[in-house]
Amino acid sequence: MKYDKSKYKIWDWKSPVILHWIINPGVVISDLFLGQTMPKVMLIEREGNKPLFQRSFTPCPHCGELHSAVKYSAQNKTAAKNWYGFYCDKCTEIIPAQRNLTSLLVLLVTFPLWGWFAKTLKQKWLNKQPERYKNLNLDFREEKNTTKNWLKFGLSWGLLMYIITILIMPLINQAEITQRSLLTGIPLWLIGGLAWGYTMKIWMNKKGKANKKLTSTIN
Ligand SMILES: [Zn+2]
Repeated sequence: MKYDKSKYKIWDWKSPVILHWIINPGVVISDLFLGQTMPKVMLIEREGNKPLFQRSFTPCPHCGELHSAVKYSAQNKTAAKNWYGFYCDKCTEIIPAQRNLTSLLVLLVTFPLWGWFAKTLKQKWLNKQPERYKNLNLDFREEKNTTKNWLKFGLSWGLLMYIITILIMPLINQAEITQRSLLTGIPLWLIGGLAWGYTMKIWMNKKGKANKKLTSTIN
């Protein structure tokens, strides 16, 4: 699909946020268990004084509708359970989600367990979608406790990464879990988690370029 590049910045797998989504093994929890997925393509409005989240749109490749990111958010209870992608409430098709590499690997290995039910599961999921998008509130609600939020997000992400890399990965690799690895992992993922939480906060609040035409008419 062709998008207006002068109006929107286009995020696909080459952009840092989506690339991180693909590479980071920790994403598997969001992706496979919670269904908190990311679309393959996102459009970011270049101009405007609004935070990033409010300038983000998910385009539907089937009907071309640009869905505000607020449509798929916690405030509408539609941020999770999007295992198969994002439901387009305009044309009822599914907007494809970007899979994480570790997720793909897990799906491949466990295929014999779910492969038989794949079609039924997807149909069940699809049947539930229209109901979820009936009473949407597309007015963005400003989060008041943003500091608390990014801290909480960063710390829980760090904890998750700690569990995965220090406890689960050695089990899979049949390596020994030592007291040293347990201890060194704490500051590592504490800092890693906080850094990631803070980066997300900066990204989400990043303002667009000021609308020059608008300011010049006001002046
Ligand atoms: Zn659509």
